[in-house]
Amino acid sequence: MNTMARNSADYDVIVVGARCAGAPTAMLLARQGHSVLLLERNRFPSDTLSTHWVLRPGVERLARWGLLDTLTATGCPALERISLDFDGLALSGQPTGADGPAITYAPRRTVLDGLLAEAATAAGAELREGTAVRGVLWEDGAVCGVVGQAADGREFTARARLVIGADGRNSTIARAVGAAVPVDRGPLAATAYAYWEDLPVSGVEASFQVGAGLSMWPTHGGRTVVSLTLRRERLRAWGGQHARGYREQLEAFPAVAERLRSARPAGPVRTAANLRNFYRQSHGPGWALAGDAGHHKDPIAARGISDAFTDAENLSGAVHDGLRGALPLDRSLARYQARRDTGTAAAFAFACRQSELRSVDQDLASRLRAASDDPAAVGALLGVFAGARRLEELFAGAPLRSADTR
Ligand SMILES: Cc1cc2nc3c(=O)[nH]c(=O)nc-3n(C[C@H](O)[C@H](O)[C@H](O)COP(=O)(O)OP(=O)(O)OC[C@H]3O[C@@H](n4cnc5c(N)ncnc54)[C@H](O)[C@@H]3O)c2cc1C
Repeated sequence: MNTMARNSADYDVIVVGARCAGAPTAMLLARQGHSVLLLERNRFPSDTLSTHWVLRPGVERLARWGLLDTLTATGCPALERISLDFDGLALSGQPTGADGPAITYAPRRTVLDGLLAEAATAAGAELREGTAVRGVLWEDGAVCGVVGQAADGREFTARARLVIGADGRNSTIARAVGAAVPVDRGPLAATAYAYWEDLPVSGVEASFQVGAGLSMWPTHGGRTVVSLTLRRERLRAWGGQHARGYREQLEAFPAVAERLRSARPAGPVRTAANLRNFYRQSHGPGWALAGDAGHHKDPIAARGISDAFTDAENLSGAVHDGLRGALPLDRSLARYQARRDTGTAAAFAFACRQSELRSVDQDLASRLRAASDDPAAVGALLGVFAGARRLEELFAGAPLRSADTR
């Protein structure tokens, strides 16, 4: 980090993007005494494309940060059961982790993201909503700030010792710094989802068959989110008629389609077809990336929110070490990235494999069959899907191949 930039910095850290990666990163840095500017082009409460199932690692972090009680006080239903059906191979029960039941939640992003942003400001971060970052400032080959459009429409600049891009999978910061993309499997599947009323569900319910997957869980306001994963060409074939295409695709899951006949759709069908699976280089002189900006995988594995929280924790720790001089900042950030890459490799391989929507993996099928008569084994397997146990437990006989990440 060059001294010029350091001496003239307005803040220790600027974080761009104030949702699952950015807000907790800002909160944790501010709690450690750093001056943090948090920039967000939207205004809260604000929705975003997401079916928002938060797995155990995410729930545990919310608890650790003192935010789980705040979330449950909003009336977010606890998800205590998981029912899975892989091409007729069914498994249902209470997921467990090493410490007992693995309860998860699926909060609306309007609620969760607002709560995270509030926690960041309560910790002392300065949040500027309605503020769009357009690019970065450079000094002596290092990023030393950002330039953008303030809420009043005027251009602004702000300087910091470090700029963190937590600005999602189409990150402006990644583009501005020219972050390399060493792993890119492109988009593999599409998603279409909608909210329903009067559709009782028992926790998480999901079915997978060749070419399509369906998952649903309850969320705020008595609503249930019903999400389809499908081949991208199938979504294209809907020709923009999303409501009709979604309804027709639901018929591939007759038991759910039957239940939906007595339910009511609440709002439009939302779709996402360009969900690339990638890893970006996530640090460089004066900059770092967190959450989807640095690493993204298909939402079929429902890991993005939990991974963003994990990044927030690991990155804020690395930045704290670097800024207080415990370790050179570049080494500390390199450790953060290495830790992220190792920690997400299995889920990345799993998400890529699942989003190809092929027939059920044989390793997985034999594990499901072997467990089906033993409630403890069922709970443990479901615990893997809830993120309470390592994915490697599910593929004990055939570890996730590193080739799958390429
Ligand atoms: C259809 C779909 C379903 C999903 N379902 C799940 C699920 O069930 N469970 C799960 O864990 N994950 C799910 N995900 C993934 C999850 O939503 C993301 O992984 C998560 O939102 C990542 O958080 P983030 O903070 O990194 O990025 P984002 O949530 O994308 O937030 C980035 C923020 O940066 C802001 N921003 C961007 N550019 C700028 C700029 N230039 N200036 C200022 N602000 C900027 C944006 O406005 C945004 O608020 C799903 C994703 C999709 C698309």
